[in-house]
Amino acid sequence: MINFQEAINLIKENINRITPEETVPLALCSNRVLSQDIVSNEDLPLFDNSSMDGFAIRAEDVTEASVEWPKELQVIGESSAGKNFEGLVNINQSVRIMTGAKIPEGSNAVVEVESTSESDGIVSIRRSVQYGEMIRKKGENIHSGDISIPKGKLITSSDVGVLASLGINNVPVRTKPIIGILSSGNELIEPYKIPLENQIRNSSASAIYTAINESGGEPIDIGIAKDNKIDLLDKFEIGLRYDILITTGGVSMGKYDLLPEVLKEMGVEVLFYKVNIKPGKPIMFGTYKEPNAETCYVFSLPGNPVSSLVTYKLFVLPAIKLLLGDNSNQIKIKAILLHDINKNDNKKYFIRGIICNNEDGELTVRSTGTQSSGALISMSLANCLIVFDEESTGGKIGEKVNVIML
Ligand code: AMP
Ligand code: MG
Repeated sequence: MINFQEAINLIKENINRITPEETVPLALCSNRVLSQDIVSNEDLPLFDNSSMDGFAIRAEDVTEASVEWPKELQVIGESSAGKNFEGLVNINQSVRIMTGAKIPEGSNAVVEVESTSESDGIVSIRRSVQYGEMIRKKGENIHSGDISIPKGKLITSSDVGVLASLGINNVPVRTKPIIGILSSGNELIEPYKIPLENQIRNSSASAIYTAINESGGEPIDIGIAKDNKIDLLDKFEIGLRYDILITTGGVSMGKYDLLPEVLKEMGVEVLFYKVNIKPGKPIMFGTYKEPNAETCYVFSLPGNPVSSLVTYKLFVLPAIKLLLGDNSNQIKIKAILLHDINKNDNKKYFIRGIICNNEDGELTVRSTGTQSSGALISMSLANCLIVFDEESTGGKIGEKVNVIML
């Protein structure tokens, strides 16, 4: 048995390819991973413009202006967003200006409308103004030639906004890795069926399917294999053609746990089987290579739905990110433990937890209660995993503990 970090290292060492590139329309690029740096060939903003509604002026005309002694300027026109003022602002002149409108030639600052009063073509300015005040300079947001979004980033709604503002309507992204989900177990039935007393609904496949979508992969449900070799081998034939094959169930030590045998028979090279963690110990990772085809990465996850989901998060998600070239980091945080948690073995623990702010705004965390790996509802309650390393003996109330967000 290997420990958690060794398992992660083996995954990193063995996944040494990235999916090909494709181009998708702007409207469809969110939650995809950028395959190229986005380099702007324009300045943003494209022209100096006003950050306030007010008056475009020459700062040197109002150096003495105050509430007691306002400075009067002639209003020679108007510049609004979408309609420029074409003339020149000369000494003691001003132009009424709106937010986003182009700064008229000759002016060098804007004074907000609140510090002015206007009547009969004259505006009184009640304060002095710095050069460049209230002006958004050309290129201050993005400079032409700059990398505005780096490759490897999972595209968010804000990124979509940046892409739109740069006029990038076709976005270069990594193709989604295709990920097969093969459930195994004689007792499993599809969720729409009514279970007999010896049956349970297949919950893991739907949960993992959704998780894959969230991770930027393309899930394919291969269905349920019975606990016999013929059915398993049959469905493996399909699954091994994908970038990743996830199987659930059948990897423990029971009489009908046939996965280890089937993997061997199919020619999957097993890189690890069993990791020193809880939950999820009997997880298996391997590779399958056929001539002239890409390597398929195989993860056989334990059947208990909680174990399946936790090991998905811990091992499969990093694998998907490697295939996508997604270089975002898993954020680890610390939170104050609200009760004692005992640990008396040398496994690494991932305890389903609920993290929230206390009245002082500090992060606190408690366990969801039962940590039975069959209790799927606890996974639904959890918004994080509390992590205890191998050598830890648990945590005491008030202690700061390591947490990863779900
Ligand atoms: P196994 O690893 O096959 O021995 O399964 C361990 C436990 O998880 C058993 O109680 C199974 O019935 C249950 N189980 C296995 N696969 C699934 C699944 N896809 N959905 C829900 N429960 C499952
Ligand atoms: Mg089973």
